[in-house]
Amino acid sequence: MVGQLLERLGVQPHTFQGGEHAVYTPIDGSQIAGVRLESAEAVRAKIATGHQAFLAWRDVPAPRRGELVRIFGEVLREHKAELGELVSIEAGKITQEGLGEVQEMIDICDFAVGLSRQLYGLTIASERPGHHMRETWHPLGVVGVISAFNFPVAVWAWNTTLALVAGNAVIWKPSEKTPLTALASQALFDKALKRFGDAPQGLAQLIIGDREAGEALVDDARVPLISATGSTRMGREVGPRVAARFGRSILELGGNNAMILAPSADLDLAVRGILFSAVGTAGQRCTTLRRLIAHRSIKDEVVTRLKAAYGKVRIGDPRQDNLVGPLMDKQAFDAMQSALARARDEGGTVFGGERQLQDRYPDAYYVSPAIVEMPGQTDVVRHETFAPILYVLSYDEFEDALHLNNDVPQGLSSCIFTLDVREAERFQSASGSDCGIANVNIGTSGAEIGGAFGGEKETGGGRESGSDAWKAYMRRQTNTVNYSRQLPLAQGIVFD
Ligand code: NAD
Repeated sequence: MVGQLLERLGVQPHTFQGGEHAVYTPIDGSQIAGVRLESAEAVRAKIATGHQAFLAWRDVPAPRRGELVRIFGEVLREHKAELGELVSIEAGKITQEGLGEVQEMIDICDFAVGLSRQLYGLTIASERPGHHMRETWHPLGVVGVISAFNFPVAVWAWNTTLALVAGNAVIWKPSEKTPLTALASQALFDKALKRFGDAPQGLAQLIIGDREAGEALVDDARVPLISATGSTRMGREVGPRVAARFGRSILELGGNNAMILAPSADLDLAVRGILFSAVGTAGQRCTTLRRLIAHRSIKDEVVTRLKAAYGKVRIGDPRQDNLVGPLMDKQAFDAMQSALARARDEGGTVFGGERQLQDRYPDAYYVSPAIVEMPGQTDVVRHETFAPILYVLSYDEFEDALHLNNDVPQGLSSCIFTLDVREAERFQSASGSDCGIANVNIGTSGAEIGGAFGGEKETGGGRESGSDAWKAYMRRQTNTVNYSRQLPLAQGIVFD
């Protein structure tokens, strides 16, 4: 069945059959494909091809580059249901979230097409008579994209669409856990290339490989930008390696996202916001809500309401009418169980968190999402566990809540539910949340593509997607033009 779906998406059977690297579906833990892993040598050959493609593509006018991305958006619209289904099968997302991920790809295509007629520079006032100063943006080269299993296709599209309209070539190394959605996305892109007509060969390439292949990409000086999404552990390795060769990186790493729940909050809204943010995608989003910082006066009430809501959450096959699908694999399940054990040791009271449906799916890992009331922000709370665990903390003074929000190593997403305008504004001020995303009366997850996406501290500091994130995919050039007959020097220097 997966084979037919892949073929409908344009993937050649020899690329997903008979290879040495087994691909499993988290839905029931069965093997669904075997892909071949590429060597570091093959990666270097692809980088050479990509570089040649870049040399031609950078001179194609940006609006024409945008036309390729426009066509890609069209192809994605035609195949949204199929690609969404494949995301559900390979990453375990419920149908709505699988489709939502493809919609994100379509949205970023639209954004990038508009951008292809902008890519604005500046004009700057010169201190010298008869001179112009301006700032222009130029293509960079081959952009390496490394992506995580939990957003197996959208992250690539965020990077690739912007990189392409900016005049770059792209090489993508997806997670080894999700090569099939990558093969399918690449096949759809190749379809768009055919319709487009005259793009250089190797403009956007895919590497199916493990760590060795990833490292070959990371270490190659012909790749001026590496955009890497994944764990903080991965960023700690990749960031310094890229920096050592003076490359640039966009790092999109782990999050440990909090909600402050103030006494004035609309609790009906908040409970719904918490449920989607904490339980959606089985807690496997970088923006998943992991810490609830509730005012002491309402904490017990909200926990009671949450337990009731958690009790009704349907857990099961993500393609059926369920809200919570499986964890990615046993490793994720073990990490969740050991975090819950640590939380108990650190004084926590655990509700939920048990394995579900093991009789039906002995090789898959479904869990009931957990709520853990903690006496304080202990070590386990400060750590990102990539599973549906919501730690609940309480506060008395608003300043203490802000302190708890910020007092973790990560800085991706945050939010406050309050009807007090002073608290809301303070939360989004310079001395408020220290995260890349700070929302009011909206949960921590589910960002739109129009804003810049990313976070601070151990989240890596990178920004992708909307706003002016495109600038990271280009090089800035300052131009001074003298249209006078004199040669005045800056700072009034006389040199004769
Ligand atoms: P991971 O770090 O295990 O793997 C991510 C990618 O990095 C994979 O493609 C992997 O092959 C590659 N990789 C790992 N080590 C490498 C190395 N030394 N050199 C080159 N490549 C290397 O992460 P995961 O388990 O796939 O994803 C979950 C993590 O990703 C969570 O921490 C989550 O918060 C984070 N994430 C962050 C964002 C964000 O935008 N901030 C988005 C999605 C996921």
